[in-house]
Amino acid sequence: MSCHVTLDALYEAAFLTDEQFRILDCNDRAIELLRVTSKAMLIGRSIADFPSENTLADEFPTYLKERLTAVPFVVIECRIPRDDGSLFWAETVTHQLSETTYLVTFRDESARIDSLHRAEDANERLRAAIRDRMEFVSNVSHELRTPLTSMSYALTNMLRGICGTLPEKAIGYLERLHVDVKRLMTTVNDLLDLRQMENGTLTLHCATIPLLTLLKEAANALMIQAEMKHQSITITSSPECYVTADRHKIERVFFNIFSNAVKYTPENGAICAWIESQENTVTVHIDDNGIGIPPEALPRVSQRYFRVGDHVAGTGLGLSIVREITELHGGQFSVVSPVPNTTQGTRISITLPRCPAPDLFIVTHETTFSEMVQAALRPLGFTCHTLSEEHFILNQAAFSATSKFIFDGQLSDAAISEMVCKIRRRPDSAQSAILILTDAMEPLLKREFARWRVLVRSRTIVPEELRTLIGN
Ligand code: ADP
Repeated sequence: MSCHVTLDALYEAAFLTDEQFRILDCNDRAIELLRVTSKAMLIGRSIADFPSENTLADEFPTYLKERLTAVPFVVIECRIPRDDGSLFWAETVTHQLSETTYLVTFRDESARIDSLHRAEDANERLRAAIRDRMEFVSNVSHELRTPLTSMSYALTNMLRGICGTLPEKAIGYLERLHVDVKRLMTTVNDLLDLRQMENGTLTLHCATIPLLTLLKEAANALMIQAEMKHQSITITSSPECYVTADRHKIERVFFNIFSNAVKYTPENGAICAWIESQENTVTVHIDDNGIGIPPEALPRVSQRYFRVGDHVAGTGLGLSIVREITELHGGQFSVVSPVPNTTQGTRISITLPRCPAPDLFIVTHETTFSEMVQAALRPLGFTCHTLSEEHFILNQAAFSATSKFIFDGQLSDAAISEMVCKIRRRPDSAQSAILILTDAMEPLLKREFARWRVLVRSRTIVPEELRTLIGN
């Protein structure tokens, strides 16, 4: 009698069973839920026979008993068929009441589980649609890349004067066209990169790269667009610093940030970039005094396809590429608006782990030669070592993949050849920059060096050319 009272007091369908999980008694909810006409139709049936996909029917009692030695109750979610052929999702809970009696409850969870399954299906369909969209976009991007590359090549050649001198007006048109073609190429490359990042197939080709040089190159690439809007782009001078990174990807990062700065800053605006060095990291800040980003949009601007308003054309991909590439390099991305200590504009900052400056080995017997080279290359921040021929042999252990070499042509050709061979035969310095500064070298020997990928220039080289040759 007391069992009846307890079972009937329960909200769930409840069954009292023996140790084989055969039903001894049940409440009215059980009769309702299983849609039987009387309790007699349930008494004596085994709980283990209820679940529809029950491959464990035989082991079920053993399984439940074993679990119950470790936990106070066992919850199993399963589908249960009724005698009228319908099915419902049940959450079944089994408790042991005594040596030989168990209490099993069924709760009808059909509505919850069905909606969960519907949500999972919808999610899967959405994922498939996104995959298809990305697939389509990247196929189209591939198709666009080749014609765009040849358009850019043709425009560059025309602007270089390959077709003869062009009227000024034509040059103006070609320049605008070139800017647009480059912008399209950037978008296409962004889409292809995103696809690779999503697949996890984007590989970084890392080397030691000069950050300031790259920043200046990216700013130069945007100069025409900036000039069209009478904007200034300034880069506060600072010593060069180095990071281990994929040059093309970091170029893309700077290019995207600068092109946004130009895009979202009105005419006559000012864009200013500078580098801040910390002990193990280096941060590049790019500020503009443009329209700024509303505070509520700041956390989302680096999410794919997110855009604020549609007054300026864009894809909403630029900043997500910036953030994802930066993070792939182990760096951090941040966006602040307005620019600190001002009331307008946007500051985008990226922080990357820094690496030591490359070693520059200057091989000479003349201090004045070494001093001239060091003075010219100071802005590049190399760690300079002046070596005689004898020291060169002793210092070989210090050469690495990032080392650079400048030889004084006053040394004998034979000695230089021998040292160049030594550098090129090492796997780590097979690609290192080697430059010989001389005013008296046989053309035949020059050609021989060219085959070793060694540059030969005059000793009266201007500092700027020296920086370009050895800096990249
Ligand atoms: P897009 O420029 O193609 O829209 P982005 O991912 O580069 O996409 O930028 C996302 C959004 O962030 C832009 O739509 C813009 O509203 C905002 N944004 C990015 N950079 C700036 C900036 N320098 N100044 C103002 N708003 C910016």
